[in-house]
Amino acid sequence: MPTSFSVPQERKLVTELPGPKSRELHARRRAAVSRGAGTLADIYMDHGSGAILVDVDGNQIIDLGCGIGVTTIGHANAEVAAAAAEQANKLTHTLFTVTPYENYVRVAEKLAEITPGDFEKHSILVNSGAEAVENAVKIARRYTGRRAIAALDHAFHGRTNLTMAMTYRPWPERAGMGPFPGEIFSVPTSYPFRDPEGMTGVEAAERTIDYIRTHIGATELAALFVEPIQGDGGIVIPAEGYFETLADFCRENGIVFVADEIQAGIARSGAWYSIEHTGAIPDLVTTAKGIAGGFPLAAVTGRAEIMDAVQPGGIGGTFGGNPVSTAAALKVFEIIERDGLIAEAQRVERAFQARIGDWASKYSVVGEVRGRGAMFGAEIVLPGTTKPNPEGLRAIIDHAAANGVIVLDAGSWDSVLRFLPSVVISEELIDDAATVIEQKLAELSA
Ligand SMILES: *Cc1c(COP(=O)(O)O)cnc(C)c1O
Repeated sequence: MPTSFSVPQERKLVTELPGPKSRELHARRRAAVSRGAGTLADIYMDHGSGAILVDVDGNQIIDLGCGIGVTTIGHANAEVAAAAAEQANKLTHTLFTVTPYENYVRVAEKLAEITPGDFEKHSILVNSGAEAVENAVKIARRYTGRRAIAALDHAFHGRTNLTMAMTYRPWPERAGMGPFPGEIFSVPTSYPFRDPEGMTGVEAAERTIDYIRTHIGATELAALFVEPIQGDGGIVIPAEGYFETLADFCRENGIVFVADEIQAGIARSGAWYSIEHTGAIPDLVTTAKGIAGGFPLAAVTGRAEIMDAVQPGGIGGTFGGNPVSTAAALKVFEIIERDGLIAEAQRVERAFQARIGDWASKYSVVGEVRGRGAMFGAEIVLPGTTKPNPEGLRAIIDHAAANGVIVLDAGSWDSVLRFLPSVVISEELIDDAATVIEQKLAELSA
């Protein structure tokens, strides 16, 4: 079990939420920050440790979001902070493509070791998840000489122009912000809760493949992007056999199979990468979010012959893989291995199953609870139906936040309650947070 925590791992409220200092900051923020950067809860944070955030008013809040799956190893890890500080005092920037440095190479070596696939792998490091996805598109197009790109329904791949086009839902990510690039296609996925009863993973894959053949053409497609567990899409876990069938189809047709592991990767799902829960081997993998304990870093890793198809200078960027972020990432990798955090994610999965696994049978407003590792979702429905209930979800999130529990929303209909806690979260905190949420579930189910 991991290290000690600088903040006691318990919820403790000393003011109402948001408290007076948060409200004061919020007024200043409204005068200076674009409304386009919306917030889930207007509680301003000061520091944190493990699974607890402490706000500017001194409230200790249970964080079941991790800033959308970033602080997987816990908030403000002291060893990561020390590694970053040490590097910041030594060298902060040279630009790897001008004069290189070892940290970048070491991160690429580690990624080659931990990403699935028994073949030579090369990486490029960039700043954000969207930038990683953009680069994967560029690399796949360059390698195949094809242009079309497919992403799954309910996918989230980012907020840049290209990745917006690959992101499924129009609101709020895309609305009013086109034109979007062409040759981007959204194809059906496997969503067991919403698919026809009994549809298997292989059948769902055949539906995806048929759509590709009839709308795009298999020989036109450069790459198929999948999130093995969809994050923003609502913790959607396709039926067994889905990804294996798609990977076979991609191999047979010269299509680059890309696993976007930006949210589910780096120990979160109870494996280094969530595609490992299937038998599919991706050609390229994108990594970001949890990789560097909160420092901006992202990567594309994959088959050497694909990654090397790009001409020198064809990919890169000023800050990509900067010395401080890579120093943080190397420490994150070390901690995950030393402290057994993949097993900790599996422990969190068991704790969630045990504590909230029966919500669908207890609360008529819950349609299904599902998840892997420290990645869970609950479908919030109109009682007794499978119809999405976004108002219900909003009420749950607001109730939780007002009581010191941060939970996330997700899903194409804004109706999936999403949990992405740190893998170091205790059973006691899971129980306490669940009790808070259940107050609202009971009310909405009555
Ligand atoms: C968050 C996310 C992205 C985008 O990452 P940013 O760092 O926000 O650009 C892309 N894909 C998935 C699956 C994500 O969860």
